[in-house]
Amino acid sequence: MLDQTIKVDLSSTKKPKPDADKLQFGKLFTDHMFIMNYKEGQGWHDPRIVPYQPLKLDPSCVVFHYGQTVFEGMKAYVTKDGEVQLFRPNKNFERLNRSNDRLVIPQIDEEFALEALKKLVSIDKDWVPTAEGTSLYIRPFIIATQPYLGVAPSSEYMFIIIMSPVGAYYKEGLNPVKIQVEDEYVRTVKGGTGEAKTGGNYAASLKAQEISGEKGYSQVLWLDGKEHKYVEEVGSMNMFFKVDGKVITPALNGSILQGITRDSIIQLLKHWNVPVEERRISIEEIYEAAANGKLEEAFGTGTAAVISPVGELLWKNEKVVLNEGKTGEISKRLYDTLTGIQYGTEPDPFGWTV
Ligand code: PMP
Repeated sequence: MLDQTIKVDLSSTKKPKPDADKLQFGKLFTDHMFIMNYKEGQGWHDPRIVPYQPLKLDPSCVVFHYGQTVFEGMKAYVTKDGEVQLFRPNKNFERLNRSNDRLVIPQIDEEFALEALKKLVSIDKDWVPTAEGTSLYIRPFIIATQPYLGVAPSSEYMFIIIMSPVGAYYKEGLNPVKIQVEDEYVRTVKGGTGEAKTGGNYAASLKAQEISGEKGYSQVLWLDGKEHKYVEEVGSMNMFFKVDGKVITPALNGSILQGITRDSIIQLLKHWNVPVEERRISIEEIYEAAANGKLEEAFGTGTAAVISPVGELLWKNEKVVLNEGKTGEISKRLYDTLTGIQYGTEPDPFGWTV
């Protein structure tokens, strides 16, 4: 059974902190990490915070061969009073457990995971960058570590949390991106693993991303895996459109990731009395709205960028330019409000920050 005491082994050396303007995404890690092990019969055990270091793993570990793994992504922010806060971290651990369920990985104790995260963040508090728009990216993940080549759920796992200081996503204000609607490859299908945050989904997305990147598009918009007709997600973000005064987003249908930013945006829009609908949206409907001058805005939502306005769509060689390639009004308002809550400059009426 789980021994709740987290052992702490502090690093004897401290790595130099990078300059805020040199921060990149996910290349540099803090001084410490959290680890806990699982073994059949013992459950999760030996929770510990140790110096950040490479892992020693048997080459036959299940994760290397069959991808039995899940992960999460969230951020810690410094407020203007110097406090460090997390944004809805309980939602990330809830989603981690849903991913665990899909990948047949044992459940973690969500409250305990949050306690462990808080402890890790407080130990590496100095690593949360303070320059405007910067944050500490947090990556909890679980890997299957049983040395065994049989295709079966592993009997051993490691739960690890690593953290990386990241720079401002937008250095010169909200920047609309060009998106290619993907017609050939699909990210996932209903019944697949699309609702889980598991490595294989991201490996499977690389090919389409590479091809559209070569054409000058920064992300792909995924359509449903069966009919290639309905909008699913954009890159690693959920997708929203503003059509004729109404905000619409694809309903959670079993193949879309249940984004925490997505959920927060829907709550904010409802709070502002902006009409918002979760439903099936065909790409044809979007192109028709554009042709009729009713497509007002489009944006992706996710932890990394919060809001990523779309300036151009390409589908079957047909281009649509939105808002003259500029950021729309609702995108800007949502971005300012959500980042304001995250950095503590705006009131948090929902109690989202921890
Ligand atoms: N879709 C996918 C496929 C993602 O990887 C992410 C990033 N976690 C999102 C959507 C957005 O989710 P969130 O708002 O929780 O970051």
